[in-house]
Amino acid sequence: MLKMAMQSYGTNVVLDLVNVRGGFPTRNWQSGVFEFAEEISGQALTDKVLTREVACFACPIACGRGTEIKKGKYAGHKGEGPEYETVGTFGGMCYVSDMEAITMAGYLCNEYGLDTISAGSTERLGQRDRQADCGKINRTGSGRYYSGYMGLSEEVAF
Ligand code: SF4
Repeated sequence: MLKMAMQSYGTNVVLDLVNVRGGFPTRNWQSGVFEFAEEISGQALTDKVLTREVACFACPIACGRGTEIKKGKYAGHKGEGPEYETVGTFGGMCYVSDMEAITMAGYLCNEYGLDTISAGSTERLGQRDRQADCGKINRTGSGRYYSGYMGLSEEVAF
């Protein structure tokens, strides 16, 4: 059962379970319940960006996600992920429910060799420093959070 779930939805399969138990990082842990969880859940990831399953050598579970951004500003970018932790920090922690933006943030972290938990948490602090409207959900990938992800990831990496 767990194997099938991990294979079908990757590590992000746990998002719904964690969220319903009140343990999903939301708005810098101001809450443990993200009201837009269904937009960034394992099912949403599968529907929006998944292109193939990815396995470590000889692993029958294949929890890795081969993905491609299919719409929006970064359409055409391909890579792996996001994992649950990436969705947790760049998604709930930053109060963003845009799966494409979260996926792009994960790609940047992969490219720059950044840990996504640290980078996503730092991005949240960056939102505060930029006095971004952290209390308002970003669901559409308007560009502001994309820009934040890009700028911050480059600042941290270099
Ligand atoms: S070995 Fe790799 S593919 Fe298999 S469950 Fe672990 S992380 Fe996922």
